[in-house]
Amino acid sequence: MDDFISENLKVIDYNISEAKAKYRKPDDIIRLMAVTKNIPAELVNKAVSLGVKLLGENRVQEFLDKKDLYDKSAEFNFIGHLQTNKVKYIVNDITLIQSVDSMKLASEIDRLSVKTGKITDILIEVNIGGEASKSGVSPDGLEELIYGISELSGIRIKGLMTIPPVYNTEFYFEKMNGLFFDLKDKNINKTTMEILSMGMSGDYPLAVKHGSNIVRIGTGLFTPFKSERM
Ligand SMILES: *Cc1c(COP(=O)(O)O)cnc(C)c1O
Repeated sequence: MDDFISENLKVIDYNISEAKAKYRKPDDIIRLMAVTKNIPAELVNKAVSLGVKLLGENRVQEFLDKKDLYDKSAEFNFIGHLQTNKVKYIVNDITLIQSVDSMKLASEIDRLSVKTGKITDILIEVNIGGEASKSGVSPDGLEELIYGISELSGIRIKGLMTIPPVYNTEFYFEKMNGLFFDLKDKNINKTTMEILSMGMSGDYPLAVKHGSNIVRIGTGLFTPFKSERM
């Protein structure tokens, strides 16, 4: 019944390894994330059992409803828009919050992390195309936000995340890659720039071409006969 997940996964793995062979170094590691929004936990667990251990959560309430049903070997990242007043519900179960785009949100993550004596890893979400419909800090405000967050003792900035515009997508992946390496060169306090999270079902081979090391796939994994070789 859920064999299509295994078929989709084979195609996705193939596309990632082809893009990697063409454009990346042999020892680069590119992680596949299964994006779980609207997908029942049993189907998600099928993907986990096939080796996709990294899950991407978009909505706080949906995560809280599903988290006890998920396979215990899974690791959770938060990738959706996160309201400041909801950080407290997820901060202990999530290994990486990929969608931080304001000082206000970062301050709340920091406050709760310091309170429980831990350090929370985050990515900064960049609205690389400056689209009104999307979350994320603008490229112009990125550096200032990173310097601000780097003062907080309960947070470590691990890199950048983006959802690019549908048009000229490759141009924006390239631009993200440029920002990523510029920031890496600056060696900002508590900012390691080791993760570049970009690429979804329709564009992940292009994202791999331009340096992504986490691709976030939802429909391509969980919709029957969805994935094809690209
Ligand atoms: C839904 C979603 C994805 C996955 O999108 P697909 O096109 O279904 O692969 C990736 N990242 C984020 C932030 C999402 O909300």
